Amino acid sequence: MRMVVALLLLAMTTLPRAQAPRPDADPRIEEIVASISEQRLKELLTKLVSFGTRNTLSDQTSTTHGIGAARNWILEEMRRSSEKLRVNFDTHQIAPQGRITSAVDLRNVMAVLPGKSPRRIYVSGHYDTVNIGGQNVSNAAAPGAAGGDRQTRAGFDPNVEANGANDDGSGTVLTMELARAFAQSGIEFDATLVFITWAGEEQGLVGSNVHAEDLRKNSVPVTAVFNNDIVGNSLGGNGIRDAESVKVYAIGPEDSPARSLARFIRAKAAVYVPSHRVRLMAREDRFGRGSDQSSFTQNGFPAIVFREANENFERQHGANDKIDGVDFAYLAQNARVNAAGVASLALAPPAPKVTNDRGGNMLSRDPSGYDATMRWNASPGAVAYKIYWRDTWTNDWEHSQTVGNVTQFTMKNVNIDDFVFGVSAIGADGQESVVSAYVSPVRAGTTIKRAQ
Ligand SMILES: [Zn+2]
Repeated sequence: MRMVVALLLLAMTTLPRAQAPRPDADPRIEEIVASISEQRLKELLTKLVSFGTRNTLSDQTSTTHGIGAARNWILEEMRRSSEKLRVNFDTHQIAPQGRITSAVDLRNVMAVLPGKSPRRIYVSGHYDTVNIGGQNVSNAAAPGAAGGDRQTRAGFDPNVEANGANDDGSGTVLTMELARAFAQSGIEFDATLVFITWAGEEQGLVGSNVHAEDLRKNSVPVTAVFNNDIVGNSLGGNGIRDAESVKVYAIGPEDSPARSLARFIRAKAAVYVPSHRVRLMAREDRFGRGSDQSSFTQNGFPAIVFREANENFERQHGANDKIDGVDFAYLAQNARVNAAGVASLALAPPAPKVTNDRGGNMLSRDPSGYDATMRWNASPGAVAYKIYWRDTWTNDWEHSQTVGNVTQFTMKNVNIDDFVFGVSAIGADGQESVVSAYVSPVRAGTTIKRAQ
């Protein structure tokens, strides 16, 4: 094992990054990434902000203003972009509650690109907007705080201007552009791709909440969610510009499926969009802020969120979240990172299942009692597997080794307590799944009866 490690380190240090070969680059994915259009992102967002507001409780009947006109346009635009997309409203009748101050006909807009398998990969952004006078005004987003929540105050008008160019027009048009690029690519993906724009995010993730709950109740297999919320501005409110990186937030524990997905995205971005850096954040989201990925997390699905590198809070949740605050070259780079991750994942076999039906790890000390034996369930379409391991106190894989088309592998005299282990599946064309890790379980507590 030491020898393998030494050779890997040598290989990494002797090749300058710019000249390093890219053995993992797939020309199909390079083509999709290259097809992302900065110009189209700008055209889409210019139209999207023209509806004035997209507040979930705004006008539903006007053809030019409010959320009704906006969602009709998103639906028609996605239909126009490719016949291969199955585009529909995902409609829910929501009763008054919290920031939903009157019953509402809530519609997510959903475009499905069917794959060979029913397992789904989601790409999303929320198209609804809100104007509460700016994110930095006191009590703006603090229900229950003194003064109350602005959205629930008497006289709050959902029809005032709320362009939401960046929050989250940026994530919305990114989703629409990926839908077009993937559908027009002509590639048949293994996974079924869902491009969806949510409503009701600003009232508490309402549209994604009911959608994800339906998925769980119907046992729909969702293997990854790429949520995008506030991904188009490169100039922070602190005056610092960062147009070269994007953040990916992933909820723990350390080896959660969300963290595996985040590591996967960073690795694929390094191959296909080397000019853009993915910064992994080992937390669910920013302090006090959230988005639709959490609806999926709460229903047991792996989900991450992309966030711009350096935000301007003065230009969120107010009338000044306008299109002049969006850097389209930056937004296009973030779209390319999404495209690289989604395409790589959608072409790969599903990740191996490494737990048994009772949820226990398929990891043992067999056969000697002092070895490490990993077992996993075969993934459909896999022709080989790759095992990974690392020290338990580090948070990214240190070592890997490709093994054949087998469903178990033994490392002699390796103590399973000393390392984290994982395994990925590799398909016939070389595409690799995310890594399924053997997660160290938390011991259930017991209540001890005390003598009286
Ligand atoms: Zn948002």
